[in-house]
Amino acid sequence: MFSIVNPFNTTFLSEHQYFTGVQVIKILQNSDHTAHTWGAKTIAERLNFIKTLIFSLTKSQHLMAKTCTLEMGKPIKQSVAEVEKCKLLCEYYLKNAEEFLKDRHIAADGSESFVTHEPLGVILGVMPWNFPYWQVFRFAIPAIIAGNTVVVKHASNVAGSAILLEELFKDAGFPEGVYTNLLIAGDQVKEVIDNPIIKAVSLTGSEKAGTSVASAAAAQVKKSVLELGGSNALIICADADLETAVPIAITARFQNTGQSCIAAKRFLVHSSIFDVFMEKFIKGVAELKSGDPMDEATYIGPLARVDLAEEVEKQVNDSVAMGAKIAIGGKRNNAFYEPTVLTNVTADMPVFAEEVFGPAVPVVPFDTLEEAVKLSNATGFGLGVSVFTTDVDAIKSKISLFQEGAVFINAMVKSDPALPFGGIKRSGFGRELAENGIKEFVNVKTVFIA
Ligand code: NDP
Repeated sequence: MFSIVNPFNTTFLSEHQYFTGVQVIKILQNSDHTAHTWGAKTIAERLNFIKTLIFSLTKSQHLMAKTCTLEMGKPIKQSVAEVEKCKLLCEYYLKNAEEFLKDRHIAADGSESFVTHEPLGVILGVMPWNFPYWQVFRFAIPAIIAGNTVVVKHASNVAGSAILLEELFKDAGFPEGVYTNLLIAGDQVKEVIDNPIIKAVSLTGSEKAGTSVASAAAAQVKKSVLELGGSNALIICADADLETAVPIAITARFQNTGQSCIAAKRFLVHSSIFDVFMEKFIKGVAELKSGDPMDEATYIGPLARVDLAEEVEKQVNDSVAMGAKIAIGGKRNNAFYEPTVLTNVTADMPVFAEEVFGPAVPVVPFDTLEEAVKLSNATGFGLGVSVFTTDVDAIKSKISLFQEGAVFINAMVKSDPALPFGGIKRSGFGRELAENGIKEFVNVKTVFIA
């Protein structure tokens, strides 16, 4: 039995019990049974259910947003926006899925040859709490449209949001077993992966959980897709338009109270504009409104759990002990951590060398673009980078130098249903969203006729 408490005020929200091994096996068998009929439907038939799901999302939007805000502290306006984004993803695949999955004829030395895309069966999703709906949608929707069924082990601290997700699919009329919530602990996941019913697994979360899941999948020769952490650099070149760049930089670091894998976590600013950037940036950070995440005016809520705020506090304090200076912020109050900006930071300090999953950011000066690229790449992660400049062509010619899954110019790194999403290095492998995402969990079957 475990309880969920509101990270804003520590009030009790709900109590849950993890499923037993027997319950888990029943769920897997049920999902496997449904996979045969669901996989046999046409894509157009499956898309009809997605259309209904959009109505269900609209109906449940308020309850879903409120539940997520209470469970993990996301400011309510941002929770509502997250549910809205789930609708956009459904609409994107409604428009494009049939084209992505249609047979592809390829000329070879026979009379006919083509590839066809078939579902794999039951796919396991292991999902995090930071975007409790969006992360699940971007895994589950393409997998389901491709004809798979999914079982979702969600993060324990958002068990209420996880239950709402299952209810959403039920409300939309999906056959039982297409989407099932698997309320289990992290240490029960390996046994699920070992079960022959599970054909592949997708995880979004920490490197530790990702390593464990990918190892278990590899031992069974099952495919895994991993979306792990990131420590994206945000580079402000000497010629950047600061009026545009500063507000975007603030959103890129502090949205969702800094708890995003693709957040800009290390700012690199050309030394010629460092002081003027800092003045504008600190002014913007000082204006961010912290408070009750249920209040529509709040932009910075508590972190999702006290231990996560303690981790950010430790990374900042250890960096200060090594010589970093706090320009603003630096204090913790239970799960709240003040929006914090650090200067005098070197690459070996925790706020630069590690992923900071909260509202704290180092700002480091550079003199040449080569130096900025080197600093940007000086991390084990490789999710994305943002570069602000008015000379777009100059950066376009340097894109191959960035060891990243994405390069965004004059914009923050963001996920968009139409664009492939994922990383290299220790940020993981595989891609979600777009055509790449819907093809991660299919058998690309080659057919050749002599
Ligand atoms: P975790 O990686 O522990 O949680 C993500 C999911 O993995 C949860 O469903 C969790 O379940 C599950 N899990 C945990 N351990 C295992 C395991 N050994 N085997 C299988 N599944 C497992 O993240 P935390 O909540 O601990 O957050 C810690 C850090 O992870 C953050 O500070 C951040 O750096 C990173 N993170 C990255 C995210 C991203 O978007 N890339 C999202 C969330 C976190 P349970 O909740 O039951 O433990």
